[in-house]
Amino acid sequence: MNLLLFKAGECTADGQLRVTGRRAQHLRQVLQAKPGDTLQVGQIDGRVGTAELMAIDPHSATLQVSLTHTAPAKLPVTLVLALPRPKMLRRILRTAAEFGAREIHLINSYRVEKSYWQTPVLGAAVIEDYLLQGLEQARDTVIPPVLLHRRFKPFVEDRLPDIIAGRCALLAHPGIAPLAPAELQDDTVLVVGPEGGFIPYEAEKLLAAGCRQVSLGDRILRVENAVAALLARGLQVQA
Ligand code: SAM
Repeated sequence: MNLLLFKAGECTADGQLRVTGRRAQHLRQVLQAKPGDTLQVGQIDGRVGTAELMAIDPHSATLQVSLTHTAPAKLPVTLVLALPRPKMLRRILRTAAEFGAREIHLINSYRVEKSYWQTPVLGAAVIEDYLLQGLEQARDTVIPPVLLHRRFKPFVEDRLPDIIAGRCALLAHPGIAPLAPAELQDDTVLVVGPEGGFIPYEAEKLLAAGCRQVSLGDRILRVENAVAALLARGLQVQA
């Protein structure tokens, strides 16, 4: 945890913040923080700054907060991802938030198992929890929206054209295609398939909607690694 995140309502008007649970435990056990220590903090969807630790006990910590800066800019990247299995979804949500993806669309695909749509990981609170873990790592505060699209065709025909409009849209799909650019230059939509890959019909629909097929090379990467490899190309835009 490189940034202790809190909700606006948790902090008093004069900047006092009391945390319990995982955050207090982290301060005590991992950071071994003591009264007088200065910590990096951020208000969810708000500014970042520092806080002085005023008191700490086995159950809670009290901090005096001063928010001074805006959160780091997001990557100009929208991720469109075929819904992966729940265990991988948790890791990908964390990764996408950590890299600074601006928006995440989880879509259906022929090779997405139907049961994946029933997972509790898709509950709003669970999604938020994993996104927050990524934000804490990257010292960001702004939770990227996660949108669920349970039907492939209506998404590709009715929603994707608007998402893509005015942007570069790259479909990562193994096969004979140019390599994905080493650095993303523009506002980009990245489309990544399911563990079994998009079927030809889906790849054709995505291309017809305006995506450009790119390869990540001869090695077939796991979905989570393909996502990280693609998002990493967006970091250059900010550098
Ligand atoms: N057998 C599947 C196929 O041929 O599409 C492999 C799917 S791969 C495990 C999961 C997703 O990661 C793919 O749909 C694609 O979006 C992305 N991916 C992984 N390796 C890739 C590569 N070398 N080039 C392009 N995309 C890749």
